[in-house]
Amino acid sequence: MRLDRRMVGNSTSQRKQGDVFWKSEEMKLKKTSDDMLFGPYGAASLSHAAILQDYGANAVWFHGFDPQAFANCEEHGLAACVEFQTFRADFGKHPGLIPIGIDGKPIRYGSLVQGVCLSNKEFLAETEACLAEGISQFKPRGIWLDYLTYAGWFETPNPDLQESCFCKSCIDDFCEKTGIDADSPALILNLFAKEWMAHKCARISGHALHYAELIRFRHPDCIIGAYMCPWKPEEFNGALSRIFAQDYQMLADAIDVFTPLIYAAKSGRAGSWGKEYLEDSGRFIPPGKKIQLILDYQDFPQSLDSAAEAHLPSWGIQVFSGGDIFDHPDQAAAFRRAVLAIRQAAG
Ligand SMILES: [Zn+2]
Repeated sequence: MRLDRRMVGNSTSQRKQGDVFWKSEEMKLKKTSDDMLFGPYGAASLSHAAILQDYGANAVWFHGFDPQAFANCEEHGLAACVEFQTFRADFGKHPGLIPIGIDGKPIRYGSLVQGVCLSNKEFLAETEACLAEGISQFKPRGIWLDYLTYAGWFETPNPDLQESCFCKSCIDDFCEKTGIDADSPALILNLFAKEWMAHKCARISGHALHYAELIRFRHPDCIIGAYMCPWKPEEFNGALSRIFAQDYQMLADAIDVFTPLIYAAKSGRAGSWGKEYLEDSGRFIPPGKKIQLILDYQDFPQSLDSAAEAHLPSWGIQVFSGGDIFDHPDQAAAFRRAVLAIRQAAG
């Protein structure tokens, strides 16, 4: 059920009546950690743009360079953050982008899949043109690179992990860059698995750095984020790097804020996953880099409450489909409490 704006507004004014203490605390806290960004992911959440700040949200993340979303953010003083789709395509329409697996055939995939064959120059040129066009027209507070990976899908408890891409062009690129002479997937994986993984990670981080340089040249203050496979480096036999080709150290030059997708229910994990991730992150996140979780509205409020208790705080929070929070005054109040707790922990 969706509450209308008037009902939410009433609740806001009720809250404000006895709220001098919270207001002063908030002002104090904002001085110490002003840059942290909190808010929902999804342009639909902008139907609540007028009340988001009352509940501690100061940013909205939305897909692509959406003119209406930019206008709404501007009107209501919210930081406009773009989710920019890098390596994802409709394989039904573009079969030439499907990566090739060990058997020399296109990889298996279901209704959800990300990653493409990175030897497709036309696709890469289109992606870059889309980014260049966006940053020439708009000045986002941040741009989060999405699907910045090799192929697969990790928002599931039982991932189908496949090595790719073994098309001729991708193998040639590997041989050329490494000086290794290997022409078959079996040979590469049996004798040069480490080099193959490093090559894939370098390819992903190389594209990330190229995009980051384009963005920074145009908007030096724009935050550059990356949505990350939320697995620790050793999980699933190193699949974070081995399959998805995300290497935190190699991405560090490009990325300011790393955003693991902590979708607990979808991934078959506990609500405390985000907190545990944050508290373990010092082990594998490069020094000086920020982590900002994206949580899932499906897991709300447990995962947010838990993340807010982490002694290594998340640098702000995104909530996927989080606009729904602001349909419900009690949930919006829970969001606000979590924001204050995280700000306090960071301050
Ligand atoms: Zn390929």
